[in-house]
Amino acid sequence: MIPFFKKKKQFPSGKDKKEVKEELFVKCEKCGALYYKKQLEQELWVCPECGYHFRITAKKYVEYILDDGKFEERIGENLYANDPLNFPGYAKKLEGYYNKLKLNDAALCGTGYINGIKVVLFVTDFKFLGGSMGSVYGEIFLRGTRKAISEKIPFISLTTSGGGARMHEGIFSLMQMAKTTVGVVELNEANIPYISVVAHPTMGGVMASFASLGDIILAEKGALLGFAGPRVIEQTIRQKLPEGFQTAEFLLEKGFIDEVISRKQLKDRLTFYLKHLGGQNGRSKTN
Ligand SMILES: [Zn+2]
Repeated sequence: MIPFFKKKKQFPSGKDKKEVKEELFVKCEKCGALYYKKQLEQELWVCPECGYHFRITAKKYVEYILDDGKFEERIGENLYANDPLNFPGYAKKLEGYYNKLKLNDAALCGTGYINGIKVVLFVTDFKFLGGSMGSVYGEIFLRGTRKAISEKIPFISLTTSGGGARMHEGIFSLMQMAKTTVGVVELNEANIPYISVVAHPTMGGVMASFASLGDIILAEKGALLGFAGPRVIEQTIRQKLPEGFQTAEFLLEKGFIDEVISRKQLKDRLTFYLKHLGGQNGRSKTN
């Protein structure tokens, strides 16, 4: 007798075939090539076939950039957001992210070494509310820049902040644009180098404040960078935008970005610029 349905094949772990497949393999969103997750991990989540940069977490960036893959000292890890506007659902959302991502906000910051050069590194995580900038994010940034000044070491930010300023905190979020800019101004006044690395996507209030104020601005290949998204601009100006608009490559051509790099070169290029800017002893630039 032919059964009406096939029994689902179960693996010893209790997971079915689809779950096991999803756990082991990942498909490139651009070219469709299929990889073992472990293989992509070795490639720093850059597709060997087409160069597509998968979005990765802040913790992964820390692992890839810093010597030994970790911070020496964390900054602002005990700060938690208030809900100043009693925005519906915000407190619950935050709670969910705390539990799921084990992060206190969308930004990670601390001191560490890049090929032996001590820096302050600030990294944002897209998974936490789109990497959006709220009060805690801004405070962590400012504490980071002030740490860099007090220790006379370079400051590096790496952003994947597609969410821009966090709408759940309204005007308090927008204030962070000014606050982070103050941080950059203080770095400048103290002659401390600031390198901004913009990864996919960095938009809105983040791009319109500190992320575009680096002494050197590096962008990951294919990153979308800008203030308003292309669709909003097209609807507003009622014109078709040029091909590649707001991509890292387009902005390099326009002189907004200093270098477009692959994630695989990131640590080496940062080392190169850090050495150029004064290495261990901070900025040697004369104004
Ligand atoms: Zn690919």
